[in-house]
Amino acid sequence: AEERLNQAQKMEAIGQLTGGVAHDFNNLLTIIVGNLDMIVRRPEDSGRVTRLAMSCLQAARRGAEVTEKLLAFSRRQVLRPETVNPNRLLKDFRDLLQRAVGETIEVRFDLEASLDPVRLDPGQFESAVLNLAVNARDAMPGGGALTVRTSNAALEAGEIADRPDLAPGPYVLVEVSDTGHGMDAGTLARVFEPFFTTKDVGRGTGLGLSQVYGFVLQAGGHARIRSEVGRGTCVELYLPRSGDRAVDRRPDGPMPLRRAA
Ligand code: ADP
Repeated sequence: AEERLNQAQKMEAIGQLTGGVAHDFNNLLTIIVGNLDMIVRRPEDSGRVTRLAMSCLQAARRGAEVTEKLLAFSRRQVLRPETVNPNRLLKDFRDLLQRAVGETIEVRFDLEASLDPVRLDPGQFESAVLNLAVNARDAMPGGGALTVRTSNAALEAGEIADRPDLAPGPYVLVEVSDTGHGMDAGTLARVFEPFFTTKDVGRGTGLGLSQVYGFVLQAGGHARIRSEVGRGTCVELYLPRSGDRAVDRRPDGPMPLRRAA
């Protein structure tokens, strides 16, 4: 029964993903075809032609961005899990993180000294933290603070009632929080959906948090988001401690479908 549920979830996710891609590309093609059509009709006005061509270029670049993210998504299937201390990965990664968010944002680390080890793909973990940092940066256009916190935490059965694949008990918690503009309830309900974005065309693809959610599912963990409009957002990644999970035996997890909060 579990196998069938997984399969159904995968089909639903694939449907959602292909629907999203088709919709996105359709919009981009509409722009490109419309502009080329106008160029062909009146090619003598070079100023206008340049303007229309620029808009085509922008649409095409966005298309390339989407395919690149999709490829990153499918590459995710090849996992290289290792037993690691997330603190070490984070410390190695700190400079890159600071560069990604820029000078107006202060990166703070609050790392638990005796953190339990976890088993995960370090590359996936770093992409996830980077995606969270980029979102945090976008939520703090006037500057602010990005805090990365690690701790040994626990999930209770009631908190993961919708995740029968997870066991309650100790987990390693990685929290990425910002002092940005936060999200309203309508946005929060949809953030893990592939292609959901509130950002302008060319700014967001709506795949950042899908990657994060996909990574956490693959790692056998749980993701939650708390957010308050005008105050900020905190993304919680619960990762299973190395050695105590059934997920090692699972070939691959379901694709991200819905928010876990
Ligand atoms: P993208 O960043 O490309 O839009 P994501 O999947 O990463 O795609 O995020 C989806 C949406 O969730 C964003 O467009 C934004 O509205 C919201 N969001 C994500 N992270 C944050 C954050 N830290 N603060 C406020 N809103 C956020």
